Amino acid sequence: MQTSVIGFPRIGTLRELKFASEKYFRGEISSQELLDTAKNLRKIHWTTQKNEGIDFIPSNDFSFYDTLLDTAAALGIVPRRYKELNLSGLDTYFAMARGYQGESGDVKALAMKKWFNTNYHYIVPEVEDDTVIKLSADKLLNEYKEAKELGITTKPVIAGPYTVLKLCRFTENKGIDDFLDDFIAAYKELIALCNDNNISWLQLDEPALVYDLSDADKALFNKIYDELLKERGNCNILLQTYFGDVRDIYEDIINKPFAGVGLDFNEGRKTFELVEKYGFSAGKLLFAGVVNGKNIWKNNYKKTLDLISSIKNACDNNINVVISTSCSLLHVPYTLKHEDKLADSYKIHFSFAEEKLTELAELGVLADKKQDKVKSENAYIDNQKVFEEERNCHNAEVKERLANIKEEDYVRLPLRSERQKLQKEKLGLPEFPTTTIGSFPQTKEIKAERAAYRKNEISEEEYTQYIKKQIADCVKWQEEIGLDVLVHGEYERNDMVEYFGEALEGYLFTQKAWVQSYGTRCVKPPVIWGDVYRKKPMTVDWSVYAQSLTNKPMKGMLTGPVTILNWSFPREDITIKESILQIALAIRDEVLDLEAAGIKVIQIDEAALREKLPLRKSDWYNEYLDFAIPAFRLTHSGVKNDTQIHTHMCYSEFTDIIPAIDDMDADVITFEASRSDLLILDSLRENNFETEVGPGVYDIHSPRVPSVDEIVNALNIMLTKISRDKLWVNPDCGLKTRGVKETDASLRNMVEAAKIIRNR
Ligand code: GLN
Ligand code: ZN
Repeated sequence: MQTSVIGFPRIGTLRELKFASEKYFRGEISSQELLDTAKNLRKIHWTTQKNEGIDFIPSNDFSFYDTLLDTAAALGIVPRRYKELNLSGLDTYFAMARGYQGESGDVKALAMKKWFNTNYHYIVPEVEDDTVIKLSADKLLNEYKEAKELGITTKPVIAGPYTVLKLCRFTENKGIDDFLDDFIAAYKELIALCNDNNISWLQLDEPALVYDLSDADKALFNKIYDELLKERGNCNILLQTYFGDVRDIYEDIINKPFAGVGLDFNEGRKTFELVEKYGFSAGKLLFAGVVNGKNIWKNNYKKTLDLISSIKNACDNNINVVISTSCSLLHVPYTLKHEDKLADSYKIHFSFAEEKLTELAELGVLADKKQDKVKSENAYIDNQKVFEEERNCHNAEVKERLANIKEEDYVRLPLRSERQKLQKEKLGLPEFPTTTIGSFPQTKEIKAERAAYRKNEISEEEYTQYIKKQIADCVKWQEEIGLDVLVHGEYERNDMVEYFGEALEGYLFTQKAWVQSYGTRCVKPPVIWGDVYRKKPMTVDWSVYAQSLTNKPMKGMLTGPVTILNWSFPREDITIKESILQIALAIRDEVLDLEAAGIKVIQIDEAALREKLPLRKSDWYNEYLDFAIPAFRLTHSGVKNDTQIHTHMCYSEFTDIIPAIDDMDADVITFEASRSDLLILDSLRENNFETEVGPGVYDIHSPRVPSVDEIVNALNIMLTKISRDKLWVNPDCGLKTRGVKETDASLRNMVEAAKIIRNR
């Protein structure tokens, strides 16, 4: 049976692309050196897949920043303000991704959003009225040829027209309808070029088909593909979907002359049912997404082989199945090979991108064998051994505590409006209090110090002294800048989730298991192995020390249970709900310890709350919010009236769940707002949002320094929607990825802007 990979991690086994790109941004290497690094990585990625025997190997899945931005660029979607910079192609591209501030001008980056239900982010393409949709397929064709020269035939991948149209922002008067024909023409041209170049398969990624689709959406899809498929020639079109099932459009899909259709059997709860009910045309290949592209647990061959044989026999005609990943492998780390600190007894349970290639290949071979033969195959026997023994992952005490949670544990009293009054008195803050989201710049030196500590090159005592010194400097710096609510800077944390993962029981952590989050930013999600609990305080000493240095309130900084879970690799043997509640109890313990130690303001970040919202609206409450929101309340319901609870969310894209956010019952929420439109503010007002709010006044994902005027303007707009007594002033998100200089300048401008507004 043939095998297919939807996409492969591009950052490199040891994040080579990240380091090269960052060097290029700092002007330390030339564009040619960056291009060479990229080329070499592609070669490694293709040959790795080839050597494993993968049949359908993707190309053009490589990206310097984001594949949706690549697709936009390939279609000519480059907003005026970036063209006007007159930079090279590569630098224009980076200007859209990261913003630009230099000799040629000063422009912000394009907006960035979460890619469906993952922690990957895409750049939102902006279409202006005079945008001319015009194909330039150089990247796609060149990468195809590059692989060909290595003797590897690939299937080029590109985001499909439906998904691109759905994700674009039309910033002026025109909309989808005005550009539809040009889009279709551009993709037709692409297909013609594939024909000219004897490219036999083209993969069009259409994850947007897994949402709830309206009649208009369906009509749009049908129009696009009826047109495109007319001119497919000899090029086989693979319609690739992932992150769910395509229940609203399945019948339309199978009735069209696609040569292949990729379906997700992992997250697509109804995928199998659809195939069974409506069948699948005999002439097509069904690319069955059965190897999980999102989680890192080993594939259970027995279950998968059973599934494959049910798919094959789901309807009368024997379906031609290709074994595929469920989505791009971009969402899992590259390889287990570098994890030499993780005992084999653990490692045998896992499978990262490289290991998943082996799984695909082995499944491909096993799927062709008769059932009785399969059982005597070594690959099968070895695989089943892993699943036979029970994992040592249960803790009776945790389970008991969970069973004893009462309804009142989810409720904080007194009512928020009362609490907010008390807090104002107690904390004595000015109007429009200024604060930051938690982390301060993590310089090379700080990272080196943490690395040295990890490698036991410096003692715990030395490390503690070093971090304390950073904290002391940071407190002084914030006082000098004039911020009102201070933070300790989070210097001891590599990452807001990994830090807690390492401190909590039940977690495993990896050394090099990086996953791309956006651009050059990678995260290393810890792995939930067993029942989670807290053995001892995790953050109290640092916060208490920081508070001892100042009379201003010092925020205690925690990560919330939903985010900890969403940014970890979760277990597959218990429900997400159960894991989240276990973590919530651990965070609750920490909240109460911080309070007891004299910390008056505690921020519990739920940066990733929005992210795992089911893609279908009909599932939002039942399958997620109904337990995620109470879990958050469980973390803070035990604190005193005048302890102020903050939360923070990245991305303001929660317009449609505002009541749920208010229901978290935090006293203050800060969130990203500068990179997205301010529609969220209208919705806050319409919903009588009670939580005090700090919509970020400037973008921290870019090195650009906002001017005082710019921030004053932003605040003025916010004040048309938010009452004076509820507005906080803060950046979008944590500052750890920023440089010291730009941070200093930006925060000073922010404090200055707050003063100007106060005096009006
Ligand atoms: N407190 C965290 C920080 O400042 C929040 C980061 C985030 O929201 N992603 O780094
Ligand atoms: Zn954030």
